[in-house]
Amino acid sequence: MRLLPAAAGSGIVFRRTDLDNFEISAIGRNVAKVSYATSLMRQGVLISTTEHLLSALIGMGVDNVIVELDNLELPILDGSALPYVEAFLRAGIRTQRRKRETIRVLRAVEVREGDKFIGVYPGAGYRISYAIDFPAPIGKQRTCVDLAAETYGTTIAPARTFGYLADEKRLRDMGLIRGANAKNAIILGAKGPINGPLRFSDEYVRHKVLDLIGDLALAGRRIEGHVVAERAGHAMHTAFVARLLKDRSVWELAHVPVTAAAAAEDAERSAARLRAPALVGA
Ligand SMILES: [Zn+2]
Repeated sequence: MRLLPAAAGSGIVFRRTDLDNFEISAIGRNVAKVSYATSLMRQGVLISTTEHLLSALIGMGVDNVIVELDNLELPILDGSALPYVEAFLRAGIRTQRRKRETIRVLRAVEVREGDKFIGVYPGAGYRISYAIDFPAPIGKQRTCVDLAAETYGTTIAPARTFGYLADEKRLRDMGLIRGANAKNAIILGAKGPINGPLRFSDEYVRHKVLDLIGDLALAGRRIEGHVVAERAGHAMHTAFVARLLKDRSVWELAHVPVTAAAAAEDAERSAARLRAPALVGA
């Protein structure tokens, strides 16, 4: 996989170098059937497991980029978005002169499905509140993150994906999680992670925030508002994007300046935090 700079306003575009540079934009109408991961499909060409890279891009403020891939699946890396963030910081992020186009939420939009819920409300910046309630040993966790506070690289990106040891055989039989192992996911036994330690005591809910940011990237532009999610997953995240895009009366396109000084400072601060020993992951 290789990331290339793109012109202002072009968005996030995947390019299959093994298929004559066929391009698929990271936008809602290209979302494919979703289960354990989020995939994009156009004219039968698939790009799978897009959520962690998209999360890292949005979290670090990258609006325009070309992502070259020579196969259909994005690398799982360590199960988090931290390796992407580190790579972006090594390459550098340039501020483009054109203002950033955002989806500014004007009225509440809510989707409920049994005890699962996602809502978005008007508000400055991009805030996400997430609550989960998983079987033991995870239980209930909740967290809130403000992406405008530039803490994505340290508070969200390092959180890894997770799975229950008890589900492993069933998922493998279904052809899912083929590549999952103790190096790219937290594996949960009855009493806790069997491949600890955790990077955060609430790493699970932080990873759900990471996934949600990646899935909401499929709105095609950064969201300006407050998102609240409870017990949701990829299918609901992407259903929510479709619902949001369909109703043009609940949001408007806004143009927000991004200053070069602020972007450079953010990157520098993130880099400094990333060098802290506490974040050198398992
Ligand atoms: Zn994930």
